[in-house]
Formats: sequence, structure tokens, C-alpha cells
Amino acid sequence: MQKFLPEKIIIERGCEDDVITMNVLKKLSDVSVEYYDKIQSEHLKQNVLVIKKYNGKFFKRCPCSPEVVCCGYYVLQNAENCHLNCTYCFLHEYSDYNAVIVYSNVNKMFDELRGILGKNPSKFYRIGTGEFSDSMAIDDITEVSKLMVPFFADYKNALLELKTKSTCIENLSGLEHRGRTVISWSVNPDKVICKEESLSPDLDERLKAAKYVAERNYRIGFHFDPVIYYEGWEEDYKETIEKIFSFVSYDDIIWISLGTFRYIPELKNAIKRKFPMSKIIYGEHILCADGKMRYIKPLRVDIYQKILSWIREYSEDVFVYLCMETKEVWRKVFNLELRRYNELEKLFPRD
Ligand code: SF4
Repeated sequence: MQKFLPEKIIIERGCEDDVITMNVLKKLSDVSVEYYDKIQSEHLKQNVLVIKKYNGKFFKRCPCSPEVVCCGYYVLQNAENCHLNCTYCFLHEYSDYNAVIVYSNVNKMFDELRGILGKNPSKFYRIGTGEFSDSMAIDDITEVSKLMVPFFADYKNALLELKTKSTCIENLSGLEHRGRTVISWSVNPDKVICKEESLSPDLDERLKAAKYVAERNYRIGFHFDPVIYYEGWEEDYKETIEKIFSFVSYDDIIWISLGTFRYIPELKNAIKRKFPMSKIIYGEHILCADGKMRYIKPLRVDIYQKILSWIREYSEDVFVYLCMETKEVWRKVFNLELRRYNELEKLFPRD
């Protein structure tokens, strides 16, 4: 995996005493540091690590998409952008800049969480940090997991999900988690990793990392997302599933999600410009009701049915769900009638 090595660290004044800032300065002691009263857009154009305070709400509903089945996820926006540079990443469009931003005012985030989780003990929350960045890719530098995992250990009505492609997992060892943190990996066959996720660890390395955290009693998740269709995909994805279950026991897996490649039309130009060798945007893609491009429905259904059947060869009951799919696709894949869009939320395992 390509380690994150910024050309410099840019710190907004007022963040100097935050624990995240001190961790970064200790870990990247050879990297030059600049301080500014306010971060300007030109700072973000460079390959830098920006440390600033987040002024908005850290905790929010996952944006999901209209007209698809919502899984009721919540996200914490504690960082933005990612150096792993996967070709298909929506961040190329969402945050079209090079800098990786880390928000250092985590105490505000924890205050928000205390208010929400403490005041609604009967409601269950699945909360992830992997929406606007990879949850663990720079955890060796920020060490934010050392703060988050013990925090969530005190809440029985929540699960924190740290979603990653990385192998930066050493900080997780020895933390008091009481089963309230799930570590999950996005997975793909090595053929896809090589072409579309080339700065990320290969499949074996990800699975070794998953085994390492499972041995430390964390529950594990896997996300086949995005599944990329190509000639010969069946054999490669089947082999990927075989590998997963050879590294990790199905008892350790809390959930597996499936989601085929999808993108907003504007992302196509960014992919063309940044990754001219990538072929993922070519082929038959249709514009769906939520404004995203997807493979045609019969192909998506076929992909999901096959992947599900391969998973079922190893486990009859591991929880499998579809990410951002319609009720109709759900019905065809699982023979399950979701009458309301929010019904899925209640089906998720809670520990
Ligand atoms: S690892 Fe995730 S956040 Fe990072 S570039 Fe790839 S898809 Fe985007």
C-alpha cells in the first residue's frame, strides 16, 4: 500500500493543541509545517495534509439516493479526501482537490455523539467514517481510532464501522472495544485492484489484516463495492469469496454488502481525465431514477444472484445486503418484499 506522505502539513491556527494535531506532528516530524489563520482554497490544490476544525455537524444521515432502499446508515465526517486514488471514487468529483483534510476538533464530534446516542437509547445506530475518506488509510498518522473505538465501547445502541482498504490496523490492537466497532474491508479481485485501486493493498494483504483484527475479537464486514463487470468476472469474484472464507471464519463476519459500479454522470469526465487507461466508464450504463449511472438491471440482478449464491456455499446465514438498489432488484435477488424504504434498517445485526 502506498503510505501517505504529504509534501507539507498545513494547520489552521487554533488547532495546535488538539490531540490529532499533536499525533500528526509526532508521526510526520520530518515534514514541513505551515500555520494559517484560515485555510484557503489554494492550499487544498497541493499534496498536503490540512488540519482544521469542522464547523458543521459531524454526525449526519448517509446521503443514500432517492428511489433506492435505504439501509439507515449514519456517517461521521471527521476527514475528507483520500490519497489511495481509486479510479471510480466519487471524491474525484465531490472534492476536486489534492489535499487530505483531517478535522481535529474531535471533542465536538464526541459531544454531538453523546447527545444523540445518550438521548435515544432505544434507537439503534450504525455509524461509519468511511464515506468522505477511507476510515483507516492514515490512522497510523492521526491515531483517531484510539479515540473512537473506546468511545463507542460505552454505547450498546450503536456500532461504529471503520471501512477501509488499508492495512493500517496496528492501533486497533489492545483497544477496549466491547464489540461495538466493526472493521470492514472493501474487496475486489486482484485484477480489479491492480487496475482501479492500484495504490491500495492487494486482496491477500487486506484479508490478512481482517484476520488480524478478527483475532482481536472485532466483528468484520466486507463490501463488494463497487463490483466491476468484465469478461471473466465470475471466476475472479468466486475466487475472491473463496479466499475470504479461507482467511476468516463466517462467525466473525457481521455483514457483507454488494453494490455494482455506479456514478453520477459528472464523474465520467473526471475519470477520463485522471485515469485515461481505465475502462470502467465504457459499456452499457443507464441513467437511473436517482440520477446515477448503473449497469442495466438484468445484469445487476445476475451479478448479485451469483455472488450471493457463492457466499451461501460458505455460510447460510451471514447477513448480506445490497447497497443503493431498488426494491425490485431486492425482490429479484433475495425474494424479499421490502414494503417501506426504511424497512431494511431493522434487519441489520446489532452485535
Ligand atoms: S479508498 Fe475509498 S475513499 Fe479512498 S480513493 Fe478509494 S474509494 Fe475513495
